[in-house]
Amino acid sequence: MLAKLRALRSELAMVSAAGRNPFGVTFDSILSATEAILDGKRVLLLGTNNYLGLTFDQDCIDSAVTATMAHGTGTTGSRIANGTYGGHAALEQRLARFLGRRHAMVFTTGYQANLGTLSALAGRGDHLLLDADSHASIYDGAKLGNAQVTRFRHNDPDDLRRRLRLLADQPGEKLIVLEGIYSMLGDTAPLREMVEVKREASAWLLVDEAHSLGVLGAHGRGLAEADGVEADVDFVVGTFSKSLGAIGGFCAFDLDDFGALRVAARAYMFTASLPPSIVASVIQAIEAMEAQPQLRDSLRRNGQHLHAGLAAAGFVLGAMPSPIVSLPMPDRETAIRFWNQLLDAGVYTNLALGPATPGGRPLLRMSVSAALTPEQIDTAIAVITRTGQLLGLATAGLAAAE
Ligand code: PMP
Repeated sequence: MLAKLRALRSELAMVSAAGRNPFGVTFDSILSATEAILDGKRVLLLGTNNYLGLTFDQDCIDSAVTATMAHGTGTTGSRIANGTYGGHAALEQRLARFLGRRHAMVFTTGYQANLGTLSALAGRGDHLLLDADSHASIYDGAKLGNAQVTRFRHNDPDDLRRRLRLLADQPGEKLIVLEGIYSMLGDTAPLREMVEVKREASAWLLVDEAHSLGVLGAHGRGLAEADGVEADVDFVVGTFSKSLGAIGGFCAFDLDDFGALRVAARAYMFTASLPPSIVASVIQAIEAMEAQPQLRDSLRRNGQHLHAGLAAAGFVLGAMPSPIVSLPMPDRETAIRFWNQLLDAGVYTNLALGPATPGGRPLLRMSVSAALTPEQIDTAIAVITRTGQLLGLATAGLAAAE
């Protein structure tokens, strides 16, 4: 055990040698949805998944405080024991109504929503068809359930079709798992084509809308809404830790029979439930998401602004404009140096290294918030461009970005 950890420690020391430990950033304080103090200096937050900027929404904060005063700081128990309060049931109903589903189940994190749902749905003898770029929680849920895992090429419906045909004679259920927006590159699944493949193979379909809830669709229900295929999605998984500004996860579905997931999903049963403050703030955040569609418009504009500014500066970018803007890096060392220098210049981004990235390639990942002003985005573009030019990564003139 120690030898394994020593190897990891020396790898971490190498990654940290250029400045900070990128996996140990500790903010002194958070000033708003867009700014924080780090090492005594003000930094612009460009990597927080705080898509709608709701973490400092006054109504959400008030709801959380009121719920704490009324119901205490924690539930101290599992959903299937003493940890379900009226608030949890109200949140599930509110979420189901928002998503237009008959049922919603609330988990303590988004990670656990995938872990619990996937492992309970697909067991030994069943087949899970996973996009190669799936989030770790999806891979872990697959392992926990002991289903046979078939990976298909990222966003490739033909590869999925081919693999499903190879499995056609095999017994067991087939469950396809996709994400609305993929977290590393910010690209969306080609959902309509994927749905056609699902229908041909009579498979089930689960879409993890973690990064697309509150972001895509006329009402913010995610990619399935945007693509008009909600009826073909059997299970929607999502999280409260991104656009809803809190923590927690869910799985929503229509078929009554799946209600038994509550006594089958271990990540639901064997962990304590969300505290009352979070439950109340998430209910309030759903209200805000519904009542303020302009937040989604600002978010879209901000994503396009950052993407266009960096593209004009000559950066090669990862995917189409979305709230996630990724810069593929030529190598690990450059990625680490770039990330450190951006922080020195007052811009916080996410350093993403293999194996957590597609193909194990290093990335500088940014995500915008609706709360960012155009001036803040211009500042970020100027800083990233200047830093990128020093590292030989941006080719166009700095003047254009400033
Ligand atoms: N699914 C996806 C696609 C994610 O990107 C994440 C978090 N990055 C999760 C699930 C887990 O969500 P949480 O952090 O809320 O546990």
